[in-house]
Amino acid sequence: MRVTRITAERVAIRLEKPFVVALGVIDAADTVFVKIDTDAGLTGYGEGVGIGFVTGETSETVLGAVKAFEPAVVGASPWAIDQIHRSMDRILVRNGAAKAAIDIALHDVVAKAAGVPLYEYLGGTRNTVETDMTIGIGEPAAMAAKAAELVGRGYRELKIKAGLDYAADRQAIALIRQAAPDARLKVDANQGWTVPGALAILAWYADQGVESVEQPLPYWDIDGAAYLRSRSPIPIMADESCFTPHDASVIVRRQAADIINIKLMKCGGIYRALQIDAIAEAAGLPTMLGCMQESRLAIAAAAHLVAARPNVADADLDGFAEFDDSAVVRRAFDFDVPIIKLPDTPGLGVDLAF
Ligand code: MG
Repeated sequence: MRVTRITAERVAIRLEKPFVVALGVIDAADTVFVKIDTDAGLTGYGEGVGIGFVTGETSETVLGAVKAFEPAVVGASPWAIDQIHRSMDRILVRNGAAKAAIDIALHDVVAKAAGVPLYEYLGGTRNTVETDMTIGIGEPAAMAAKAAELVGRGYRELKIKAGLDYAADRQAIALIRQAAPDARLKVDANQGWTVPGALAILAWYADQGVESVEQPLPYWDIDGAAYLRSRSPIPIMADESCFTPHDASVIVRRQAADIINIKLMKCGGIYRALQIDAIAEAAGLPTMLGCMQESRLAIAAAAHLVAARPNVADADLDGFAEFDDSAVVRRAFDFDVPIIKLPDTPGLGVDLAF
């Protein structure tokens, strides 16, 4: 079986409400869908989502990079995933979202060829994944009202964005604790804090039962993260500090995190995500599967991975919930809050209208 063609299409959908995080504002779900055709008649679908202030990619760069990767993919066997990644890396370093789009489509093809759902192709046996739901930065009272609404809809775990203002971060958690007393809470500071500021607020979060804090410091500050981790009363999660398997090995060696947030769009897809999870597992660290503003296609790919890997202890796969992708994604998974149930059709189980 050989790849005969890659087709890419950009789809941008404005979000009803902008999503505010410490690094910037996301006001659109701007995504690139990829289709890979083969001479065996099998088609694979993928998706790449760039967020400039996180990944350094935009939909324009994803389209350009997918085009640049054609010589590495067209004519290759879809089974040769390691070789294709090495070839893509020789054409362009980084560009994880563009690589993820191709990687996901290739995994869709080979799981279809094997006649099994992707989670089974990856070695898994279960087909359900529970996701948390994220609350962006806003007025603390409004964040608490949102928390109550989400718990009312069935979510059991909430991820709270922070990192713009320490006092507001504390007030938000205090009000959310009252509004949703039984919810499991995580905080994501998106690089917004300093070492002394983080130390003070981490101690207070511990009293509030916050279970982990994600990326408290700038992504490049591995020394600071290691120092903070050695003194924090609650687990520290690395997100923007960990894009690649190499980053994961540095974090492990420097003891700079307790948990690693893997995102297909950072690392370049399922193949690299498996490597990161294996590095973390060997070092005794659990991982979480996170996401960008992705449609149900890339979310399905991440959910298959979670279902297949017991070391992935948590899933933050809520990006699809904020926008309506039904114009493009004709069929994906069932979602009964907070459970994603993957279909047992071969591959991703996702059908696109292109
Ligand atoms: Mg994060």
